[in-house]
Amino acid sequence: MAGLTCALALAKEGFRNIHIYETASDLGFVGAGIQLAPNMARVLDGLGVWKAVEKEAVNITETSIRRGAGDVELAHVKLEYIESKYGYPHMVGHRSSLTRALYEGCKSEPSIKINFSTAVENIDSFGPKPSFTAVSRLGGSPYRVEADVLLGADGIKSRIRVGMLDTLKINAKITDTQQAAYRIMLTREQMKDDPELLALLDRNLVTRWIGEKRHIIAYPISNNNIYNLSTTQPDKNFAAAPEATYTTKGSKEGMLGVFADYCPKVQRMLNLVPEGQVCEWKLRVHEPLPTWVHGSVALIGDACHPTLPHLAQGAAQAIEDAAVVAVALSKMPDTAPETINKALRVYEKVRKVRAETIVDLAAASGRELHLGEGAAKEDRDKQFAALKAGNGKVPDKWADAEIQGLIYGFDCVGITRESFDEIFGRMGSSEKAAASSSAL
Ligand SMILES: Cc1cc2nc3c(=O)[nH]c(=O)nc-3n(C[C@H](O)[C@H](O)[C@H](O)COP(=O)(O)OP(=O)(O)OC[C@H]3O[C@@H](n4cnc5c(N)ncnc54)[C@H](O)[C@@H]3O)c2cc1C
Repeated sequence: MAGLTCALALAKEGFRNIHIYETASDLGFVGAGIQLAPNMARVLDGLGVWKAVEKEAVNITETSIRRGAGDVELAHVKLEYIESKYGYPHMVGHRSSLTRALYEGCKSEPSIKINFSTAVENIDSFGPKPSFTAVSRLGGSPYRVEADVLLGADGIKSRIRVGMLDTLKINAKITDTQQAAYRIMLTREQMKDDPELLALLDRNLVTRWIGEKRHIIAYPISNNNIYNLSTTQPDKNFAAAPEATYTTKGSKEGMLGVFADYCPKVQRMLNLVPEGQVCEWKLRVHEPLPTWVHGSVALIGDACHPTLPHLAQGAAQAIEDAAVVAVALSKMPDTAPETINKALRVYEKVRKVRAETIVDLAAASGRELHLGEGAAKEDRDKQFAALKAGNGKVPDKWADAEIQGLIYGFDCVGITRESFDEIFGRMGSSEKAAASSSAL
């Protein structure tokens, strides 16, 4: 998400020599839905790819938050207002539509070259001309690549982040959230004999079923032809897995066991998943980084702010990073290495606090949704009751209008264009001083 968006945004800003190095042999295919929040849509529209994504997406107009056991509705929130307030509706879609639209956008730009099956290994230099060793998975000797700017969009397992932290002698690590997720997609064909399930597929509704330490969020995608479910539950199966393991085939019996006390409707959906096709994801995050920039190298996306999915903002924030870094680089008065470094630090200034605030809010929302019996849950349920009576905050922060304002109302490209000169002008030349001030 971050890499393709960034390449496209740089091309649109007039850069002429953009190279993507991707370790996978092609786009890959994560069989899952994704929320396309207005802040993401705004950036994609600016890059000319939103129409292609929107075509297959579903416009979400309401959300229902329910107790998993018993299916009792705790809150119902209308979301139609989002389009008029933020200029874009809240849509949900298939990950492959989003990736494909970005890829097609990149392919139509002659200045972008995509090198598939090529892994970035060691970072040999962070500046003035950053360089790294590239290794083709198709054979041949490793080779050195030198660039003016290197942007690390290599996800939560980022090699570029590891290299940067080593060089800066920063001790920050990937952290275990002790949560895992099943991702499930059910087709219309699979649901066709169950009118109650079909009703879910045909309605532009996000449903969240909550319970102690677990929840399920579900919505229709692909023009209401696929029902997408994403769960969160305590991690049992990865507890002893090596750090490099992020996905595993789960057992259907195990998955049904996690949601055994959930309502029959949910049980019937989980039962539709074919044996052998249960896929579970480990949810890891990272300790906050004191800086995302060193020399002419910057980190973007999950490489620098991986998040729990409870606000559905990971890819949206990665896409914001990509757009902001492209604008910041386009506004540089010259291309001296110190200027590149300063422009990258403007990117960090616009993005870091915002992205990290959203990571914290997502974790907090998860804690609230997953409460077990006790005073805190009683308080939360009082909030749900107040909301039903017509006022109050939504304990599910994803559905809360104030949080939505913070997230969806931010025009990252507009703000970077407007504030670049001022932030750049204030930016000292010392990278160290900037890093410590942004950490405060
Ligand atoms: C269950 C779940 C649900 C989610 N739902 C949502 C949602 O609804 N909305 C939303 O906005 N976000 C969501 N997210 C988050 C979102 O998927 C991520 O935040 C997003 O994919 C991050 O994008 P990225 O480009 O930074 O990293 P990635 O998507 O991880 O991409 C990194 C890329 O770098 C490549 N790579 C890695 N190492 C190297 C190397 N050494 N050399 C070359 N290439 C390399 C990888 O192959 C990959 O293609 C969800 C996440 C989870 C787990």
